[in-house]
Amino acid sequence: MQKQYGHLTEEALKLGASSCKVIASGEIQVKDDLAALCNGEYTCPNFGLGASCPPHVKGPGQFRKWQALSRYSIVVKIELPTSVMFSNERNGVMRLLHQIVAGVEQKAIETGFKKSKAFAGGSCKELFCEDQANCCVLTENGPCRHIESARPSMSGFGIDVTKLMASCGWQGQKAEESDAADKQSSSWVAGLVLLA
Ligand code: SF4
Repeated sequence: MQKQYGHLTEEALKLGASSCKVIASGEIQVKDDLAALCNGEYTCPNFGLGASCPPHVKGPGQFRKWQALSRYSIVVKIELPTSVMFSNERNGVMRLLHQIVAGVEQKAIETGFKKSKAFAGGSCKELFCEDQANCCVLTENGPCRHIESARPSMSGFGIDVTKLMASCGWQGQKAEESDAADKQSSSWVAGLVLLA
C-alpha cells in the first residue's frame, strides 16, 4: 500500500515531513467529546476566529461522511525538539505542517483523488492571519487569503490523534514543557490527508 501511494508519501517527505504513513481510513477514530474540547471547560483562545475552526466547521458528523468515501489516508508527522515545540519557533513548524498536508492534498487531486481533504493542527487565524483583524471568509464571505496552505485543524473534527499515531506505529505521547530543557527530548506534530 505504501508503494501504491508512493508519489504522495514522497511529496510529503519532499515538502518537509519527517515521516509519512498510509493507513486505512476506517482506522481513524473520531469522537464528539474531543471536538467539544475546543469550547469546553477551557475554551481555546482561537475558538470562532477562523473559518477552519469550530463552530464554523461541521465537526465529527461531517468527517464521518467524508471518511465513509475514503479507503486510504496519508498521515504525516514532523518531529521537532521539545525546546522548539515550546518556543516562538513553534508557529513556523505548524505553518510547515499546513503546507505539507495542503501540498499532498493538491498532488492527490492532480492524480485522481479529486475529493481528497487535508487536515493539520492549530488555528489558521493564529498561524496565517495573526496580523489581520478578521478572517475574511467569515466577515466578507470572501476567499481564504491562504487557500494554498491553510487547512482545518484535526481537533475541530474530533480526530483522536493519539489513536492515529498508534495506527501508524508511532509513539503518541507528547513531551511536556518541563522537558524543554532536555536537549535529547523530542516532540511531534501531525496532519492527515483523507484520499477520496
Ligand atoms: S482567511 Fe485566514 S483565518 Fe480565514 S480561513 Fe483563511 S487562513 Fe484562516
